[in-house]
Amino acid sequence: MNKIPMTTPIVEMDGDEMTRILWKMIKDELILPYVDLKTEYYDLGLEHRNETGDQVTKDSAEATLKYGVAVKCATITPNAARVKEYNLSEMWKSPNATIRAILDGTVFRAPIIVKGINPCVRNWKKPITLARHAYGDVYKNTEIKIPGAGKAELVFTAADGTETRELIHEFKGPGIIQGIHNTIASITSFAYACFNYALETKQDLWFATKDTISKKYDHTFKDIFEDLYESEYKDKFEKAGIKYFYTLIDDAVARVMKEEGGFIWACKNYDGDVMSDMVSSAFGSLSMMTSVLVSPKGVFEYEAAHGTIQKHYYRYLEGEEPKSNPVATIFAWTGALKKRGELDGNAALTEFGDKLEKAVIKTIESGVMTADLSRISDNPNCKTVNTHDFFEAIKSNM
Ligand code: NAP
Ligand code: MG
Repeated sequence: MNKIPMTTPIVEMDGDEMTRILWKMIKDELILPYVDLKTEYYDLGLEHRNETGDQVTKDSAEATLKYGVAVKCATITPNAARVKEYNLSEMWKSPNATIRAILDGTVFRAPIIVKGINPCVRNWKKPITLARHAYGDVYKNTEIKIPGAGKAELVFTAADGTETRELIHEFKGPGIIQGIHNTIASITSFAYACFNYALETKQDLWFATKDTISKKYDHTFKDIFEDLYESEYKDKFEKAGIKYFYTLIDDAVARVMKEEGGFIWACKNYDGDVMSDMVSSAFGSLSMMTSVLVSPKGVFEYEAAHGTIQKHYYRYLEGEEPKSNPVATIFAWTGALKKRGELDGNAALTEFGDKLEKAVIKTIESGVMTADLSRISDNPNCKTVNTHDFFEAIKSNM
């Protein structure tokens, strides 16, 4: 069989633990037999990050800016236990944070829907894609515990020394205060990413804040989205037959439960943190959740939403067959291959990505799946298989 040729490489970011094992299996069994794969390889496995003083992570992000499309394996974000386990010279930052700092951009997370794995919310028939603003607010806060009576103020000192003050509270006794911020640049970039992704995926865009209570802070988010929509996107949205819709966050939460899905839900940082966990667990499983970082610089990085599946890896090291669900990682690869195909005008590559996704879905819908899914499936013909046999079934469906 002739392999599908590629012109531009995909930036390949290898990772850690069980997902590193899945990574190699996906390439060897599902991609290399069919595609003349071109990648620029970066080993983001923790050992190599440590050896390179984390330079490899930065290099992989720079390469993504150069080539436009990356696919990333899950990686360990070191904590104290990992520093000891891997004998690290430093507690390296989260690779995702380092990459995001270079690419900027917004992460869009969407579930992979298959018949037989039903969302907890009965009405949900199509994916709900969650877009989380990943900068500022309570994640970059400053807090003070107030010991007793006194006056708390918000003070802004402009570059020329002028002060603006607002009273926060006249304390009669002990209390707490918190200062948060965001920047117009970051909110604008978030809004661009959301509008562009909605157009690209032809889905409605929802955005919600609490602007009735936060008349300056949240209202600024609302205004930025509104102004951008009116000035740059209204016509494009109308032509594409999609809608932009703003509402209060509590209204959005209530409505999401009653809709059938098929839209993008853009959230402020905290709302996105909380709601993405709610949406992904209600859709079934973290192992079926994809994630793509869309940068305002026009580049894309695809990955699975789950981590390195540490517990499975330790069992694998003790000799157990791989049994983890590779679907989200397969879809990270297909997402990258399809995007590469689209950017290069390589229809055969895009078609291959589509076919592989369809074969995966068909396999699960026929009842063949890994244990995490068979636990929650209501398919009466369910057959639990290990990762290798799951790949065999996908190949025969392909
Ligand atoms: P995890 O990898 O998300 O796995 C947590 C649990 O979820 C697993 O033990 C497993 O449950 C289930 N699970 C997740 N993905 C699965 C899959 N594909 N197939 C089957 N089951 C799956 O989280 P973790 O093990 O707590 O985190 C491990 C490492 O991942 C951490 O070092 C963290 O820093 C890193 N992490 C990386 C990323 C990223 O790179 N994007 C994201 C999150 C976490 P059972 O044990 O019940 O089978
Ligand atoms: Mg969370």
